Amino acid sequence: EPLDRSKKIYVAGHRGLVGSGLVRCLEKAGFKNIITRTHAELDLTRQADVEAFFAEEKPDYVILAAAKVGGIHANDTYPADFIMKNLQIETNVIDAAYKNQVQKLLFLGSSCIYPRDCPQPIREEYLLSGYLEKTNEAYALAKIAGLKMCAFYNRQYGTHYISVMPCNLYGINDNFALENSHVLPALIRKFHEAKIHHAPTVTVWGSGKPLREFLNVDDLADACLYLMDHYDGDDFFNVGYGKEVTIRELAELVKKVTGYEGEIVMDPTKPDGTPRKLTDISRIKATGWEPKIDLETGLRQTYEWFCERYETGD
Ligand code: GDP
Repeated sequence: EPLDRSKKIYVAGHRGLVGSGLVRCLEKAGFKNIITRTHAELDLTRQADVEAFFAEEKPDYVILAAAKVGGIHANDTYPADFIMKNLQIETNVIDAAYKNQVQKLLFLGSSCIYPRDCPQPIREEYLLSGYLEKTNEAYALAKIAGLKMCAFYNRQYGTHYISVMPCNLYGINDNFALENSHVLPALIRKFHEAKIHHAPTVTVWGSGKPLREFLNVDDLADACLYLMDHYDGDDFFNVGYGKEVTIRELAELVKKVTGYEGEIVMDPTKPDGTPRKLTDISRIKATGWEPKIDLETGLRQTYEWFCERYETGD
């Protein structure tokens, strides 16, 4: 049954790409009692602090969008931090939710939980059917543990904890720093800077041939609320756009959206990465949800947000 908009909902990780998208979505949906804590106010890796917070606030619903995240370099360099912090956050929040009678919890994972070489598009059934990608194994293992914890709490205690595994996300509050950002925010920044500096070319890494799927974070937030409102079963869900583009097509689209008029140059000395990464979203579609924000519309929204920040020098 739908969540009661007047009840307390705690969004853990409200400053991140996903958490901030969820807060926007919940406000729009009429939630009057959204609880948040900054990292400085509440360190989710400290069990006693998390227990005290839950005992005091007594949230009715919880969205767990807090995690230690990072790009390929950070994941590869600090695997101990990634597994320890994420396991701590998950065990502390999920168990405190159970002990404080939270009615519904939503856990956010990632599509990197799936085996590196699994068939495409990726179905939920492929979980634990093969070896993980080595570079983010620690993060993936922690997210698999979180998903399984939710399932086991449901089985043993009859709780209502839902897990979702999003594909590549983008949107408002993304990380646009060039050193370690993903391709979509990196290209927005590159094309924008090339436009304002009248640069004749923009360099795009690799062959341009890899296929990637991009979901706007507002669509993800909408899916999360939809599932919390309408779903009570035991499955977990991929949330993706269900369609892919080549990196070359993405670059052409970013060029169009930013209004850049120069040339695109490919740099084949840079790595392509995995040739294809697409989620199968038939399971969530069967519940009645589907993505609504097409890539061009989402890019325009994200570019507008980026421009406002860029001009203020942020
Ligand atoms: P991945 O999806 O985990 O492989 O990570 P990325 O989002 O970083 O890269 C996706 C694809 O975009 C790869 O084939 C990159 O080589 C390509 N790409 C093209 N230009 C860029 C760029 O400026 N930055 C990044 N991060 N990737 C780029």
